[in-house]
Amino acid sequence: MEQEKPTIDGPDPAATLAQAAGLAEHLQRIGVQWLPTPDAESTQALATQFRVAGQDTPQPQPEAASRPTSAPATPVTAQPAAAQPAAAQPAAAQPAAAQPAAPATAPSPPGGSPAPGFALQSDSAAANEPYAGPPLAADARAAQLAAFAETVAACTRCEILSKCRTKTVFGEGNVTPRIVFFGEGPGREEDLSGRPFVGKAGQLLTKMIGACKFAREDVYIMNTVKCRPPNNRNPEPTEIENCREYFQAQFQILRPEYIVCLGLVSAQALLQTKLSVGRLRGKFHSYFDSKVLVTYHPSYLLRNPAAKKAAWEDLQLMLRDAGLM
Ligand code: URA
Repeated sequence: MEQEKPTIDGPDPAATLAQAAGLAEHLQRIGVQWLPTPDAESTQALATQFRVAGQDTPQPQPEAASRPTSAPATPVTAQPAAAQPAAAQPAAAQPAAAQPAAPATAPSPPGGSPAPGFALQSDSAAANEPYAGPPLAADARAAQLAAFAETVAACTRCEILSKCRTKTVFGEGNVTPRIVFFGEGPGREEDLSGRPFVGKAGQLLTKMIGACKFAREDVYIMNTVKCRPPNNRNPEPTEIENCREYFQAQFQILRPEYIVCLGLVSAQALLQTKLSVGRLRGKFHSYFDSKVLVTYHPSYLLRNPAAKKAAWEDLQLMLRDAGLM
């Protein structure tokens, strides 16, 4: 007598496969170097054994299930323009910002050698392109970031900032993050402590992260410039360019699924655009294969609490896209 075949009546099998593909992609992104690829015969055997409800011979979705490396699991809403790593803007909205010379080598401290293992991405790579090379495992990332933080601590590229600073503020958090929060630059508390977002704006950011059901340790937090501009002025364009190699290298190591740009300075620096936060928010952009979301800076939200609703909508957009709500 033929054995009765179990039937899966639960969640939508296509959605389950897509989630599995998303998990596989995440594991690869955080440095799991080996993942099984579907074997046609075993897939068929499993499909026959566990007949999916309403689908006699369920086909795995090879494209999603065996997505190779770090391509996004779901498409970004805005289409990227070719040869612009950061701007997934329609052609008409392309920024006028000049492309800086692409750094080819690791940032080097004056008189010192480059931090180990930094082959920086060129700015001329296309949006949605994978980050260069295979992702590193967590311990290698931590080691590289630590070495790199030392390089940054010795940096004197900006005469004013390097003289005014108490401590450089490199960044902190999970080295295999799904999300990186990307701020502007250290304020007073951050300059004294050497840690990002620990002042009033930081407390609000911590709440925003909590509202996403994360702890600070689950994400990575970093800034566009690593030294405090005097009197909390905005960083000058040259100061941002001096730090560009640093934040690019951090992203290359971290290669998060999502980068949340907090405020105008980080958004314009990363996306190389002159557009306002109002124009940039509410949709995804691209930086290599990270999805970039722009929202209001916590300092702005402290001054304009009415904008918190919009900021929360931005975060929810990301959470939905990430399958987290
Ligand atoms: N504002 C920022 O942009 N970054 C910090 O680290 C603190 C305040």
